[in-house]
Parts: sequence; C-alpha cells; structure tokens
Amino acid sequence: MTRTSIGILGAGQLGRMLAISGAQLGFKIELLHDEDSPCAGEVASYQKASLSDEQTIKAFAAKHSVTTAEFENVPLSVLSWASESGKLFPPPPAFAVAQDRLLEKELAQKLGIKTPRFAPVSSLAELESAFASLGAGKFVLKTRSLGYDGKGQARINAASEIAAAWTSIGERPAILEEFFPFESEVSCIVARSTRGEIKAYDLCQNTHQSGILVKTSVEPNHPLQLAAVAVVEKVLSKLNYSGVLTVEFFVKNGELYFNELAPRVHNSGHWTIEGAETSQFENHLRAILGLPLGSTKIRGNKVEMLNILGTAPKLEEVLKEENLHLHLYGKEERPGRKIGHLTKIYW
Ligand code: AMP
Repeated sequence: MTRTSIGILGAGQLGRMLAISGAQLGFKIELLHDEDSPCAGEVASYQKASLSDEQTIKAFAAKHSVTTAEFENVPLSVLSWASESGKLFPPPPAFAVAQDRLLEKELAQKLGIKTPRFAPVSSLAELESAFASLGAGKFVLKTRSLGYDGKGQARINAASEIAAAWTSIGERPAILEEFFPFESEVSCIVARSTRGEIKAYDLCQNTHQSGILVKTSVEPNHPLQLAAVAVVEKVLSKLNYSGVLTVEFFVKNGELYFNELAPRVHNSGHWTIEGAETSQFENHLRAILGLPLGSTKIRGNKVEMLNILGTAPKLEEVLKEENLHLHLYGKEERPGRKIGHLTKIYW
C-alpha cells in the first residue's frame, strides 16, 4: 500500500495538532511555511520556503496525496498554484471569502442568513455616510482583510470618533458594522468529506476578551444546534466544500446572526481532541482524504476548553488534576499570545 502523505500550508499550532492526529493514523505529514522554526516544525517534517516561490508550491502540492492549509490568510496565489494538483482542500474560493469580511457577509446575505447590519466603506467620506445611514447606535469598523483576534478593528460610538477610527485601521477598505448586542457567541464546526458525508460537532459556546477567544464550553443538545448546522450546510454546499468548516455566530433572542467563517479547524474546536469521539483535526484529514468521517459525539456531560494566553501554568499543578488535559504548543511565552489550551471533561 502506498503511504498516504499530507501537505499542510502553514505550521502554527493548528498545523501541529493536525500533524499529531495525522501521524496517529500513519500518514506522512509535511508542513510548508516561510518561518525559521514554527511550532509545528517540531512534530513533523517542515519545509521552509518563500510563499512567492511558485515552483516549490506546485511541487509540494503535486507530491502529496492531498494538501490543505492551517491558516486563513494563505495568499490566493499560493492556493491557486497548489490547486493545480487537483488535490488541494478546502477549495480556494472558500479562502477568498473567508479573507474578506465583505465577501463573507455578502455570501451570508445571498444564502438568506441573518447578519448584524453592515455597510462597506473604502474612504472617510463613505464611512461618514455609512455611519449616517445605519442610524443611531454603536459601531465597529473592521478592515475587510487581514484582521483576526480583534485586530484591524475600531469602535465608533459617536460621529466625533469617525476620523480617528478610520486612521487607526490604516485607512483600508473596511466594513462598518453595528456593535451587536448579543446574548452569547457560538461556533458550529462541521466536517464534509470529498464523498459528501457530513458530520457536525455540538455547538460551541464561546467567550472572547478583547476579541480573543478565552473559553469554549460545550454541552449536548443546544437549542440552536439544528438551526446552526442547517446554515453551515448551506455554506458547505455553496462553496462545494471539503474539510472542516467553522462558522461563528452571535445569538440574540434565540436567533443566529452570522459573524464570520473559517475554512479550517478552529480554536473553539480544540475540546474535540479529548472531548469528542473523533477530533476536528482527525475528521478534517479524513474528510479531505475521502475516508469515512468519525463520530463527532461529545464525551461526558459537558466539556470546557480554556486558552492559555501569554504564560504557561505550572506543570505540577495542572497535571495533578483529574480530567484536565494540557496542551502546550512549544511557543515562546509572550503577553497575550496563544501558547496552549486546557480541556476539562465533566462526566
Ligand atoms: P471577529 O474577528 O470579527 O470575529 O471579532 C472578534 C470578536 O469581537 C467577536 O467574537 C466578538 O466577541 C467581538 N465582535 C466582533 N464584531 C462584533 C460586533 N459587530 N458586535 C459586537 N461584538 C463584536
């Protein structure tokens, strides 16, 4: 039997966890990125290459059974070169949408999915008229591209703050969005295989601080489970998607409002490593290889995942706790940086 090999564009913690789960199934894993010593390079083969090196990217995708990506902002040129192999999943248009907040919101609208009110802006004048047309209230200005974990965002609570907000996001194409009075935030993680099989995880209830995920809590039978999966299925179908897809929602008055999507495994799904029958990482690999998907059933009555930001906890203290699973990504400690996570299962 020829050995299955998986190419991964990117080599951060998501790549590291994908590599670990792929290794368990006996797959050969190779990661490619332009950093010197990324954290995933410690657990699998790593090729350092410039992301503008067309021949290298094409050769990388051609030699692997399948190629995927572990970060959202893979340049579209790289995806286009890799997709010439016919073995790149998820498909590049999913990345094009996820990389642009306006395209994301427009896709949701086209599919009849509710979103917070928004307007595109590409100049200070447009921002001023968008502010006027969206009516009174509080707003958040978000760059269309290259914003994540709350970066590239500015709050606008009054007309007097418009100019400063425009400067603070670097005067880049953006969307002005109402500051949404949500009751909670949830994400829906769904795997769809190249054979069309679909499996969804239980809805993840997420807590953010300063735009960064700090905690995910999951219990079976969330009242919005079916509604959320139905929305994600529409997106999967529209994008002709294979792999794991994550959609983040705001919840208000028992209704879902689309916030954003990620064409990849997601931080809010890290609990699935110990907290579900099959992890999101393994199911992503199964999905892109056209293998049967594993059960997404939750283990226990409730699972919680806490991100470790900045500083690692004392090993002696964490490891003596029962039902607590520590993951450290081998990243240097730095204030606010995601360097690991903890998962606790409540039986
Ligand atoms: P994003 O990168 O757009 O997902 O933003 C990160 C986090 O900032 C979200 O998960 C929310 O907690 C918060 N946030 C983003 N957009 C809004 C909004 N329109 N209204 C209220 N909170 C928001």
